[in-house]
Amino acid sequence: MGELRKDYILDRWVIIASERSKRPHEFKSKSKKEKKGLCYFCPGNEDKTPPEKFCIDDKQGNWKIRVFDNKFPAEKLEGQFDIQTHNKYFTFSSSYGVHEIIVETPDHDKQLWDMSEEEFAEVLKVYDMRIRELEKLQHIKYVSIFKNHGEKAGTSLLHSHTQIIASNIINQNVAAEAEAVKRYESCPYCEIVDIEKTSDRRCFENDKFAAFCPYASRFNFEAWVLPKMHIKRLSDLDDNGYLQLADIFLRVLRKLKELNAPYNFFIHYSPKGEDLHLQIHITPRLSIRAGFEFSSDIIITIVPPEDAAGFYRDHEK
Ligand SMILES: [Zn+2]
Ligand SMILES: [Zn+2]
Ligand SMILES: [Zn+2]
Repeated sequence: MGELRKDYILDRWVIIASERSKRPHEFKSKSKKEKKGLCYFCPGNEDKTPPEKFCIDDKQGNWKIRVFDNKFPAEKLEGQFDIQTHNKYFTFSSSYGVHEIIVETPDHDKQLWDMSEEEFAEVLKVYDMRIRELEKLQHIKYVSIFKNHGEKAGTSLLHSHTQIIASNIINQNVAAEAEAVKRYESCPYCEIVDIEKTSDRRCFENDKFAAFCPYASRFNFEAWVLPKMHIKRLSDLDDNGYLQLADIFLRVLRKLKELNAPYNFFIHYSPKGEDLHLQIHITPRLSIRAGFEFSSDIIITIVPPEDAAGFYRDHEK
């Protein structure tokens, strides 16, 4: 059983995931080759994944999007869900929650950036369905949705998939954002998107969404996609809203395809009882963090966001 642990004094958490543990020699890097026939996420290998929890099918019995638990979960609905402190400095619970995989397409070679707006909108709707489903579980406080694309972004699996971790605490970055917005009279993100959509950090814009490279970018070519209206969660979108989000999001991803960039993205929505503007953070992984960054959490970004935005705007459709 894994454990969720807090820093001695800071609001900074880790998961000690003993079930995923490796022996020291397994940390030695080795080259992996994935053969097409061996992919567990491909159609025909459904019996090799944990049981299916949800799927969207094409009405001929073939799945288009498929959801199941991660075979090597960082969190499980087992053990102690409440946070305890022992001896003043040791704050912990079990790593309590759910860790799911969403396989976004049956096509082994198709990545998100190859999808149509309609296909990607459907994936985004599944994200929201899983958030709503997992939020119903007792003791679950937040559902983190994120993608790892490429080895440098944390996955060696080629077959496109998104991960979900539903936890007994609110994701610490979301909690910090939800606190920070309270220092403003009205939603700062509403104002920020309004300013940035016409600044030299603007990337793309449609009726409902805008993408821009954030002023204090922590990653080279980092991009944020924000709704222009104050929307707190994906479920506040209608069908047209999902298509518009897919449109802007895909324009960012298609530019990353030109660089064949490894990337992560993650979705920050408002926790229950808070009033946080929906944000999608897209973080290409083109550089390696080093000592100063770990020491200070001050990131050295070598591509100015103003230049990165120029790259995104390069050939607007
Ligand atoms: Zn596959
Ligand atoms: Zn807002
Ligand atoms: Zn955020």
